[in-house]
Amino acid sequence: MDEFALIDAFFKSMTHKREDVRLGIGDDAACLTPPAGQALVVSCDTLVAEVHFLSNWDPYDIAYKAVMVNVSDLAAMAAVPAWAMLALTLPQSPESSWLKAFSNGLQDGLNAFNMALIGGDTTRGPFSLTLTVHGFAPFDKVVSRAGARPGDSIWVSGTLGAAALAVERLKSPHQIPQDDQAILMNQLLRPRPRVDLTPFLQTYATSAIDLSDGLSADLNHICEASALGACLNLDAIPVHAVVNQYKQKEALDFALQGGDDYELCFTVASEQEAAWHRCMTDSGLQCFCIGVMEAEQGLRIKESDGRIRALRPQGYSHF
Ligand code: ADP
Ligand code: MG
Repeated sequence: MDEFALIDAFFKSMTHKREDVRLGIGDDAACLTPPAGQALVVSCDTLVAEVHFLSNWDPYDIAYKAVMVNVSDLAAMAAVPAWAMLALTLPQSPESSWLKAFSNGLQDGLNAFNMALIGGDTTRGPFSLTLTVHGFAPFDKVVSRAGARPGDSIWVSGTLGAAALAVERLKSPHQIPQDDQAILMNQLLRPRPRVDLTPFLQTYATSAIDLSDGLSADLNHICEASALGACLNLDAIPVHAVVNQYKQKEALDFALQGGDDYELCFTVASEQEAAWHRCMTDSGLQCFCIGVMEAEQGLRIKESDGRIRALRPQGYSHF
């Protein structure tokens, strides 16, 4: 199958319900109608074979995960997802069944957020894929890493460490029972970007980031962008139950340094705190308050006995 037949059969055939796509796949460029008066928020993430995923994974999972990690960046900006472009590089022309599963994963991932695939590029080379995603938010509601202030409380949207434990289990022999392994693999293969938090971030967050590299490394980005420091409360860090069960002493390290969780970390101003608590109660959201932003730069963590020690930001880094 040549490049053009492949695009037609597996990508141009994908469906969507968006009326803001005037020209999608098939022309030299896509033509779109962004909503009047809103900011266009754009992000791309590359997934490289044997680095971000294994090439023997189900192609459905590879494509699905690519959508989720990209949408997570839009969620961190409090933007509503809309469009996606795919740059796909493959070592050889794959089997039709491989491409079908890949495009099904892509379609299901995009459908989950009412997104349209609007174009891309298909090339031969070492296996990797890059998605570019576009979303919208009112100009004054976009949440960046730079808006935190001293005294803001620090929150995470869910439990941490399970994806990192799944990665470790893939690399080494293990004794974790099948059902717990399934929980870990599900966390790694099917992250759920927290777009459900978008309206709440728009109202209450002073800054936000998604947790792709690890809590300490990612929170440090908020600290640096906001020219502040942070003090975490060790007992408040929400460690995933399966990580607690199998990792005991190291569990906290998985939560602080483990990547791939795709929960959000965000800050809330103290004067908004009461309203934010009411909002969580009313909407049934469970987020965890893990510390406070401080004027003194650097990361610190308060141990159970009240002692405060420096915390080195550590997480995944390619170089
Ligand atoms: P050009 O040669 O003008 O760059 P291409 O032949 O690369 O165009 O692509 C033809 C059309 O198919 C374009 O609309 C492009 O956006 C789309 N396309 C190519 N590869 C992909 C892909 N992997 N996924 C989605 N759309 C793609
Ligand atoms: Mg091209």
